[in-house]
Amino acid sequence: MENIKAPRGVRDILPDESWKWASIFDVTRKIAEDFGYREVHLPIFEQTELFSRGIGETTDVVEKEMYTFSDRSGRSLTLRPEATASMVRAYLEHGMASGPQPSKLWCAGPMMRYERPQKGRYRQFWQLDFEAIGSSSPLVDVEVIALSLEIFRRLGLSNLEVLVNSVGCPVCRPVYRSALQAYLGGHFESLCPTCQGRYDRNPLRILDCKVPTCRSITDGAPDVRDHLCEECRVHFDEVLKGLALIGAKFRIDKRLVRGLDYYTKTAYEVLSGDLGAQNAVCGGGRYDNLAEAIGGPHTPGVGFAAGLDRIVLTMEQQGLGFGKEPSIFATVVIADEGARDEGLRLLYELRKAGVPTDMDASGKGMKAQMKAAGAAKAAYVCLLGSSEVVKGVVALKEMSTGTQAEIERDRIVAELVLKAGAARC
Ligand code: AMP
Repeated sequence: MENIKAPRGVRDILPDESWKWASIFDVTRKIAEDFGYREVHLPIFEQTELFSRGIGETTDVVEKEMYTFSDRSGRSLTLRPEATASMVRAYLEHGMASGPQPSKLWCAGPMMRYERPQKGRYRQFWQLDFEAIGSSSPLVDVEVIALSLEIFRRLGLSNLEVLVNSVGCPVCRPVYRSALQAYLGGHFESLCPTCQGRYDRNPLRILDCKVPTCRSITDGAPDVRDHLCEECRVHFDEVLKGLALIGAKFRIDKRLVRGLDYYTKTAYEVLSGDLGAQNAVCGGGRYDNLAEAIGGPHTPGVGFAAGLDRIVLTMEQQGLGFGKEPSIFATVVIADEGARDEGLRLLYELRKAGVPTDMDASGKGMKAQMKAAGAAKAAYVCLLGSSEVVKGVVALKEMSTGTQAEIERDRIVAELVLKAGAARC
């Protein structure tokens, strides 16, 4: 029988990588605290309507990329392709509007999209998702962008580019859409087939097409900023002013429209110069009409999602450290069977005292146990044979120097607690 493998585009995050993820979560959690965002855990599947109505029927995500299935009662459910719609659903469902506004929330978890897998693009990928729901202030847009940049700063990422734009609102976007269509209509035959398909349904997406002929056509396309209504223009100016005030470096990019329908006003993206084709490490913006689209009252909101897989890839590419890889501090090694029970007792005393400790469970010889201790990068080995048990001592070997000393059995746990504490500092 053929071995079963993980589905295409889906990968396992193995221990050599997952400790790096854990260190990024630690940094993120601290920044969330520093900015006053509280963590939530959201379901990984939702009613399909949440995404089709929230994200928009004509978006790539809804048209082509959702994992949708019927459950046993015939309900249409979808594995979440992103977290914003779920976050707004949770905000509405739990009456968070009655608390202090905006509600500042974050979550981390896997998202699922049926996309063509390639480096940095998977069918299950992880996002760090931050949302501030319930405020229309441009200062909250600034806060959200600043928060994402602070994550990258604390992780040490460099070679990033921050792109900012405004995609307008239901008042001014239709005006811009018509102006864009009028311009693109003159070049329709030269657009790629995908963009020809987008012309009626979603012409703004033509602006971020990567095909060279489409790009040279859109180079001359009207700029959304010339079509913003007064409210959107003032909002955008305030966002730009706030970003400049806090020293954020950014570039206004008229092509930036983002793939999801729910964006209004601010849209932004952070690109890495070290990732190749899939170079966006973070994207976000304002979505003042999303709550209404999913059946709630008008509720402004702004947020971002950063791709964890791509953050790790960029950090590796840039040779950045992830903090200290956790490893076993001590290994209990048994010289003979007469010491096994005492060894087991010592193992659990050390673990209870918070010293990361391991011991062979399969009856390996002493040489093999020592080798395993070396492979596990244990700092110390507690050697126990029948003679040590009788004498009431443990032979403590420091692996880096090879020096060995007899320590009284009653003192060994306290001694290792001290050493492990010092090693952590
Ligand atoms: P989006 O929700 O499309 O704006 O994506 C937000 C961020 O999630 C992107 O900037 C990427 O870092 C990450 N991302 C999106 N799609 C994928 C994918 N298929 N594989 C890996 N990361 C992704």
